Amino acid sequence: MGLPHFAKGEVIKGFGRGSKELGCPTANFPMDVVHNLPADLDTGVYFGFASVDRGEVHKMVMSIGWNPFYKNDVKSMETHILNTYDEDFYGKELRVAMLGFLRQERNFKSLDELIGAIQGDIRQAREKLDEPDFIKYKTHPFFKE
Ligand code: ADP
Ligand code: MG
Repeated sequence: MGLPHFAKGEVIKGFGRGSKELGCPTANFPMDVVHNLPADLDTGVYFGFASVDRGEVHKMVMSIGWNPFYKNDVKSMETHILNTYDEDFYGKELRVAMLGFLRQERNFKSLDELIGAIQGDIRQAREKLDEPDFIKYKTHPFFKE
Protein backbone atom coordinates (compact mmCIF):
# COMPACT_ATOMS: atom_id res chain seq x y z
CA MET A 1 0.00 0.00 0.00
CA GLY A 2 2.94 2.34 -0.57
CA LEU A 3 4.06 2.19 3.08
CA PRO A 4 6.34 3.02 4.72
CA HIS A 5 6.37 6.47 3.16
CA PHE A 6 8.93 9.06 4.23
CA ALA A 7 8.27 12.78 3.79
CA LYS A 8 9.78 16.06 4.91
CA GLY A 9 8.91 19.70 4.42
CA GLU A 10 8.23 23.04 5.99
CA VAL A 11 5.29 23.36 8.39
CA ILE A 12 2.81 25.82 6.89
CA LYS A 13 -0.29 27.56 8.20
CA GLY A 14 -3.38 25.43 7.82
CA PHE A 15 -6.89 26.68 7.45
CA GLY A 16 -7.47 27.18 11.15
CA ARG A 17 -10.12 24.53 11.38
CA GLY A 18 -9.78 24.65 15.12
CA SER A 19 -7.66 21.53 15.54
CA LYS A 20 -5.85 23.17 18.42
CA GLU A 21 -9.15 24.00 20.14
CA LEU A 22 -9.97 20.27 19.95
CA GLY A 23 -6.75 19.59 21.82
CA CYS A 24 -5.29 18.17 18.65
CA PRO A 25 -3.09 20.62 16.72
CA THR A 26 -2.17 19.31 13.26
CA ALA A 27 0.97 20.50 11.47
CA ASN A 28 0.28 20.96 7.76
CA PHE A 29 2.62 20.16 4.88
CA PRO A 30 2.81 22.28 1.71
CA MET A 31 1.29 20.99 -1.52
CA ASP A 32 4.52 19.72 -3.05
CA VAL A 33 4.92 17.24 -0.18
CA VAL A 34 1.31 16.14 -0.58
CA HIS A 35 1.85 15.65 -4.31
CA ASN A 36 4.69 13.24 -3.60
CA LEU A 37 2.35 10.83 -1.78
CA PRO A 38 1.96 7.49 -3.57
CA ALA A 39 -0.97 8.05 -5.97
CA ASP A 40 -2.89 5.00 -4.75
CA LEU A 41 -2.68 5.93 -1.07
CA ASP A 42 -6.15 6.03 0.51
CA THR A 43 -7.40 9.04 2.42
CA GLY A 44 -7.86 8.42 6.11
CA VAL A 45 -5.84 8.22 9.30
CA TYR A 46 -2.25 6.93 9.41
CA PHE A 47 0.29 6.44 12.19
CA GLY A 48 4.06 6.63 12.37
CA PHE A 49 6.90 8.74 13.73
CA ALA A 50 7.77 12.42 13.32
CA SER A 51 10.43 14.96 14.21
CA VAL A 52 10.68 18.75 14.12
CA ASP A 53 13.96 20.38 12.98
CA ARG A 54 15.77 17.05 13.44
CA GLY A 55 14.82 16.99 17.12
CA GLU A 56 13.57 14.01 19.11
CA VAL A 57 11.47 11.44 17.22
CA HIS A 58 7.92 11.05 18.54
CA LYS A 59 4.87 8.99 17.68
CA MET A 60 2.34 10.69 15.40
CA VAL A 61 -1.07 10.26 13.82
CA MET A 62 -1.74 11.80 10.41
CA SER A 63 -4.92 12.61 8.59
CA ILE A 64 -4.93 12.59 4.81
CA GLY A 65 -8.01 14.11 3.28
CA TRP A 66 -9.39 16.04 0.34
CA ASN A 67 -9.08 19.75 0.79
CA PRO A 68 -12.35 21.62 0.20
CA PHE A 69 -10.36 24.85 -0.18
CA TYR A 70 -8.99 23.51 -3.48
CA LYS A 71 -12.32 22.11 -4.68
CA ASN A 72 -11.45 18.71 -3.23
CA ASP A 73 -8.85 17.96 -5.91
CA VAL A 74 -5.85 18.37 -3.63
CA LYS A 75 -5.05 16.19 -0.66
CA SER A 76 -3.94 17.64 2.67
CA MET A 77 -1.56 15.94 5.11
CA GLU A 78 -2.01 16.95 8.75
CA THR A 79 0.25 15.52 11.43
CA HIS A 80 -0.54 15.47 15.13
CA ILE A 81 2.62 14.67 17.09
CA LEU A 82 2.16 12.85 20.39
CA ASN A 83 4.34 15.28 22.27
CA THR A 84 3.78 18.58 24.03
CA TYR A 85 5.73 21.47 22.51
CA ASP A 86 6.41 24.73 24.30
CA GLU A 87 5.81 26.74 21.13
CA ASP A 88 4.30 26.48 17.68
CA PHE A 89 6.75 25.37 15.01
CA TYR A 90 5.51 27.03 11.84
CA GLY A 91 8.33 27.35 9.29
CA LYS A 92 10.34 24.51 10.80
CA GLU A 93 11.17 21.23 9.09
CA LEU A 94 8.79 18.37 9.81
CA ARG A 95 9.90 14.82 9.00
CA VAL A 96 7.45 11.94 9.05
CA ALA A 97 7.66 8.20 8.55
CA MET A 98 4.19 6.93 7.71
CA LEU A 99 4.06 3.30 8.73
CA GLY A 100 0.48 2.06 8.99
CA PHE A 101 -3.15 2.78 8.20
CA LEU A 102 -5.73 3.12 10.99
CA ARG A 103 -9.05 3.94 9.36
CA GLN A 104 -10.86 5.65 6.49
CA GLU A 105 -12.13 9.18 6.60
CA ARG A 106 -15.61 9.46 7.99
CA ASN A 107 -18.17 12.02 9.10
CA PHE A 108 -19.27 12.53 12.66
CA LYS A 109 -22.66 13.45 14.05
CA SER A 110 -21.26 15.59 16.83
CA LEU A 111 -18.10 17.23 18.05
CA ASP A 112 -18.01 14.79 20.98
CA GLU A 113 -18.07 11.87 18.57
CA LEU A 114 -15.22 13.40 16.56
CA ILE A 115 -13.12 14.02 19.66
CA GLY A 116 -13.80 10.45 20.81
CA ALA A 117 -12.59 9.10 17.47
CA ILE A 118 -9.39 11.16 17.60
CA GLN A 119 -8.68 9.90 21.11
CA GLY A 120 -9.26 6.35 19.89
CA ASP A 121 -6.87 6.89 16.96
CA ILE A 122 -4.20 8.21 19.30
CA ARG A 123 -4.59 5.26 21.69
CA GLN A 124 -4.32 2.75 18.84
CA ALA A 125 -1.30 4.51 17.33
CA ARG A 126 0.49 4.52 20.69
CA GLU A 127 0.00 0.75 21.07
CA LYS A 128 0.84 -0.26 17.51
CA LEU A 129 3.99 1.86 17.39
CA ASP A 130 5.43 -0.09 20.34
CA GLU A 131 5.38 -3.26 18.20
CA PRO A 132 8.88 -4.30 17.00
CA ASP A 133 7.94 -3.97 13.30
CA PHE A 134 7.16 -0.30 13.83
CA ILE A 135 9.32 0.90 16.71
CA LYS A 136 12.47 0.14 14.73
CA TYR A 137 11.69 3.16 12.53
CA LYS A 138 12.17 5.49 15.48
CA THR A 139 15.93 5.22 14.93
CA HIS A 140 15.76 5.09 11.10
CA PRO A 141 18.57 6.99 9.30
CA PHE A 142 15.91 9.17 7.63
CA PHE A 143 15.58 11.05 10.93
CA LYS A 144 19.35 11.65 11.14
CA GLU A 145 20.21 12.68 7.55
P1 ADP B 1 -3.29 25.21 11.48
O1 ADP B 1 -4.67 25.36 10.91
O2 ADP B 1 -2.39 26.40 11.20
O3 ADP B 1 -2.64 23.92 11.06
P2 ADP B 1 -3.69 24.01 14.10
O4 ADP B 1 -4.73 24.43 15.10
O5 ADP B 1 -3.92 22.68 13.41
O6 ADP B 1 -3.50 25.20 13.07
O7 ADP B 1 -2.28 23.97 14.88
C1 ADP B 1 -1.15 23.46 14.20
C2 ADP B 1 0.15 24.04 14.71
O8 ADP B 1 0.30 23.81 16.11
C3 ADP B 1 1.34 23.35 14.07
O9 ADP B 1 1.67 23.92 12.82
C4 ADP B 1 2.44 23.56 15.11
O10 ADP B 1 3.14 24.77 14.86
C5 ADP B 1 1.68 23.66 16.42
N1 ADP B 1 1.79 22.47 17.29
C6 ADP B 1 2.06 22.51 18.62
N2 ADP B 1 2.09 21.29 19.17
C7 ADP B 1 1.84 20.41 18.15
C8 ADP B 1 1.74 18.97 18.09
N3 ADP B 1 1.92 18.21 19.20
N4 ADP B 1 1.48 18.40 16.89
C9 ADP B 1 1.30 19.17 15.78
N5 ADP B 1 1.37 20.52 15.78
C10 ADP B 1 1.64 21.15 16.95
MG1 MG C 1 -3.59 22.01 11.26
